[in-house]
Amino acid sequence: MRYLTIDDIEPSGFRVLVRSDLNVPLDGGRVADDFRIRAALPTIQALRERGARVVVCSHLGRPKGQDPALRMDPVAARLAEIGGFGVHKVDDVAGPRAAEAVEAMGPGDVVLLENTRFEPGETKNDPVLADRLAALCDLFVQDAFGSVHRAHASTVGVAERVRSVAGLLLVRELDAFSRFLGEPERPYVVVLGGAKVSDKLGVVRSLLPKTDAMLIGGGMCFTLLAAEGYEVGESLVEEEMLDTVREVLAGPGGDKIQLPADVVVADRFAPDAPWRVTEAKAIPDEGVGLDIGPATAERFAAVVEGAGSVFWNGPMGVFEWEPFRAGTARVAQAMADTSAFTVVGGGDSVAALRMLGLEDRVSHVSTGGGAGLELLEGRPLPGVEVLERWVDG
Ligand code: ADP
Ligand code: MG
Repeated sequence: MRYLTIDDIEPSGFRVLVRSDLNVPLDGGRVADDFRIRAALPTIQALRERGARVVVCSHLGRPKGQDPALRMDPVAARLAEIGGFGVHKVDDVAGPRAAEAVEAMGPGDVVLLENTRFEPGETKNDPVLADRLAALCDLFVQDAFGSVHRAHASTVGVAERVRSVAGLLLVRELDAFSRFLGEPERPYVVVLGGAKVSDKLGVVRSLLPKTDAMLIGGGMCFTLLAAEGYEVGESLVEEEMLDTVREVLAGPGGDKIQLPADVVVADRFAPDAPWRVTEAKAIPDEGVGLDIGPATAERFAAVVEGAGSVFWNGPMGVFEWEPFRAGTARVAQAMADTSAFTVVGGGDSVAALRMLGLEDRVSHVSTGGGAGLELLEGRPLPGVEVLERWVDG
């Protein structure tokens, strides 16, 4: 991957459009977790300090049309609060009002555009929208690591039209992930969890040949256990995935997959449900598996502690509910204690790490979920590849 960075440009006085990833969880109209806003800040600050007119854009959630609940206003408020500078929020993505606001900017000013997905052309990488975004700026800075796996108007279309470079966060993320590509420190361990197997089977399949061990917990492990012939009661199972999962387990490298031998089983899917630890082969008919068991957590922790590099995506259980947090907490502690190179990615996984106060104890906390997984799989990231055309010209 070849790209220039913001250190290769002289942005003073220019209109610089920054594609950040400000896709944060909201709660009652307020930002519930500002991790991604904090991560986006260094690039914005650096450009301000160098006298750029900084126009920031991002998507937020998955709006169908112009959903008022997904306006960027709360994000603008939080960005201004933690940045300590004024943020002029415009109720427009790339129309006349956006152009007017950008026109009125002085050096060091910051404008935040409206949710890019309010424009139907965004996810289609519509050339008309890309032209309008390009008309707002002289330079484009790609900093939205969490969105570079998508070829949208604000991630790829605009970068085809305007001289484009990578922002500080994007560079940091790509550098961290590059340690898993090529020659990772061995043993190279991947820990996967989270809700859905269908989200992550692709990554399981393509990472198996590269890793030394793959530890699987979370909701997704029950589909794998079911595929191995275990009765898993009322636990989360994606029936339509069973055949594919069986193929993966029996295929090359399938023996690197480690599944839980014990699990925490609740009477129902509720935070106050009675629960107990059972062997994975003895889950009762009405039981719902909501965490890996303590013996499995110890085994997973030992593998992480003995690793050379570890990538973790997906909580080991329903960590949001205290009784089902122990597996995630044990693996997180091992991530903190190991001398291995450690990366944690995925919105919920990072939220769990932060809840446990361990985010400063891993080598890299990634802002990207899907983008990180696709990068590890060796798939091209369109929002990064597009930067290459500006390297030699
Ligand atoms: P990330 O955001 O880190 O990529 P995912 O979105 O894939 O992670 O999955 C996180 C969700 O998975 C959490 O909300 C968690 O409650 C849920 N989860 C974990 N274990 C289970 C389980 N055994 N049953 C149901 N849901 C689970
Ligand atoms: Mg998630």
